[in-house]
Amino acid sequence: MTSDSWFLYALRCADDTLYTGVTTDVVRRLREHNTGRGASYTAGRRPVTLIGVWPFPDRSAAQKAEARFRRLPRRTKLERIARQLPAAGSPFCRDGAIAERIQPLRFCPRCAGLLTPHKDPDDERSRQICTVCGTIRYRNAKPCAGALVEEHGHLLLVKRAVEPYMGCWDIPGGFLEVDEHPEAGAIREVREETGLAIEPTGLFGIYVDQNSYDAVGTYCLNIYYSARVVGGQEQPDDDAADLAWFSPVDLPREIAFDHAHQVLADWVEKTARDRPDL
Ligand SMILES: [Zn+2]
Repeated sequence: MTSDSWFLYALRCADDTLYTGVTTDVVRRLREHNTGRGASYTAGRRPVTLIGVWPFPDRSAAQKAEARFRRLPRRTKLERIARQLPAAGSPFCRDGAIAERIQPLRFCPRCAGLLTPHKDPDDERSRQICTVCGTIRYRNAKPCAGALVEEHGHLLLVKRAVEPYMGCWDIPGGFLEVDEHPEAGAIREVREETGLAIEPTGLFGIYVDQNSYDAVGTYCLNIYYSARVVGGQEQPDDDAADLAWFSPVDLPREIAFDHAHQVLADWVEKTARDRPDL
């Protein structure tokens, strides 16, 4: 969604009536309505609240959608807004980058105000901005940590017992807790999934991945350590159907998560470099 997109927006006025309009800048229009400069209808019915926004490629498409929307009974209008139904072929707008398969948030996590697309001329990327408190929503990849646990030239993998990628082989690891160092997270995840105590021996690599199984398109920042076993008892946990050690020449084909194919390819290459005898 670029800054020159047009939007159909719906407001709920102070007397509970609805008002619709079209604009290229929803935040500016909302401010105008709430300061009495938006329209004579809303000027006497303040404050107004933004309850729906739909993006369109141009002014004419937005105006046609508005004309159709205005003819709907009030109940149908509210139903469309509540169920986030598209207006005239447009998606219900909650984010500036729907085309990039990015899951928008609908409400501000800070104040529960409605979020709307936002493009600052100085910013290369489209964001969302809160129509109430003005907080801009920046998206970041979720941090994950895992370990390439090696013993006698073999790598420890976990067979997943749960979706996504049920039945596929996975590098032990997972999401970090909010205040957890990646190294501690990798040790914890390996212990939880395999029963083994490990000692990281170095940073293996960092891989960015978008979860293709995930409708919201979450990005993950995957941090991997090389590691060796220092204790524990090998025992797959509830999320793991099996554990196994693989040599560089007999790695399984069914691998969970797109980026893991690259991680394993890098491990094979590193093993060949470090231990040409294997
Ligand atoms: Zn807010």
